[in-house]
Amino acid sequence: MSNAHHSPHVEVLKSAGYRVTRARLAVLAVLEAEQGHITSAGVIAQVERIDPTIGRASVFRALDLFTQLGIIRPTYIDTSLTPTYVMMRGGHHHHVICTACKSFFEFEDCGLEAVTGNLERTLGIKISGHLLEFFGVCADCLPGASGGS
Ligand SMILES: [Zn+2]
Ligand SMILES: [Zn+2]
Ligand SMILES: [Zn+2]
Repeated sequence: MSNAHHSPHVEVLKSAGYRVTRARLAVLAVLEAEQGHITSAGVIAQVERIDPTIGRASVFRALDLFTQLGIIRPTYIDTSLTPTYVMMRGGHHHHVICTACKSFFEFEDCGLEAVTGNLERTLGIKISGHLLEFFGVCADCLPGASGGS
C-alpha cells in the first residue's frame, strides 16, 4: 500500500499546491489498488484498515479534492445518490454497464482523440479527460439467455 508514495498522483497533488497528508496518501493507495469502481463507503472501510486514526470526514474531503483535480470521477449507477468513484487512468475511463444486472465491462481503447481535438478547437476548452459510459443488456440478461430462471 505504501507504493502510493511513488504515485504520479502525488505529483499532481504537489504541483497543484496541495500538501501530501496521511489521509490523502491513504485514500490514494486505496484508489490505486482498486482496479474498478469503489464507493466512498468502500474507501472508508479500506482506509480504516490502513490507518484507523483517519476520520471519514478526511476521506470525503480527499475524494472531493481528487475529483476536482481530475484523478477520479464520480459515477452514478442506477439513480443512486451515492457515487461510485473510478480512477481516471491516463485521463480517461470507459465502460459498458448492463442495466439489468449492473455488470461492468471495462475497456481501454476509446479512439476519441479526434473528437477531443475537435472539441478543443471549436470550444476553446483544454480537455483534461473524459468518462464514457455505454449501457445496455448483457448476454446473460438478454431474453432467452440460458441459466436464467
Ligand atoms: Zn468503469
Ligand atoms: Zn446483465
Ligand atoms: Zn478514452
